[in-house]
Amino acid sequence: MTNIKNNLQALKEEIARAIERRRTEIQDQKVTLIAVTKNHGVDLMREAIDLGVDEIGENRIQEASEKFSTLDRKVKWHLIGHLQTNKVKPAVKMFDLIHSVDSEHLAESLNRAAKAIDKVQDILIQINLANEVSKTGVSVEEFDRLIERVNTLENLRLRGLMLIAPNYEDVEECRPLFRSMYEIFQRLKRDQAEDIKYLSMGMTHDYKIAIEEGANMIRVGTAIFGQRDYNL
Ligand SMILES: *Cc1c(COP(=O)(O)O)cnc(C)c1O
Repeated sequence: MTNIKNNLQALKEEIARAIERRRTEIQDQKVTLIAVTKNHGVDLMREAIDLGVDEIGENRIQEASEKFSTLDRKVKWHLIGHLQTNKVKPAVKMFDLIHSVDSEHLAESLNRAAKAIDKVQDILIQINLANEVSKTGVSVEEFDRLIERVNTLENLRLRGLMLIAPNYEDVEECRPLFRSMYEIFQRLKRDQAEDIKYLSMGMTHDYKIAIEEGANMIRVGTAIFGQRDYNL
């Protein structure tokens, strides 16, 4: 049996220790924990929320919609998975922050859907820093153009950046990527300060290194809920 309470407690201690290992100039930045509940049921979500979790991450619209209509708790909803343009309508209805904006086409569709319900949608831009062919995220080359476009869209508000690091066997290999992301994040903050707040990177296997390198939002599933059962 997974003991969510113990896992959360242990995770919080690890987060605090990782913050202490940071360079002094970023030590005072808090870390927002997003509990990733994909492939887990509403009962488990309630349990985590009653233990103090207040931000949850889902990666599929269909699954999130079902939970959104049954979960009787108030939390912040994060979309962390890839979003298809034909699902932007339900996405803007549910999510407080959409982490996975990676193309002008998607940004424009989201903007239209947000406008239709009179909402300003908070978003992150997902960067494909390792330039992996199979992964989602905008390439570094196309990043500036996407920012420019997003800044013209009135119903989107850019809040920061997101990275899914490759699943390297040696997790230390992620460190240079996290470090580069932090530099890009700092540059973005200098250019358009007040709205830029979140650097979303780090999952169960790499969150400690991500925090050390400046992540202030981490997305953790397995370390809280145990292994996911994909046959559900
Ligand atoms: C599933 C998922 C996570 C959480 O992964 P764990 O290894 O279970 O912590 C984080 N981010 C994204 C984008 C995911 O899809």
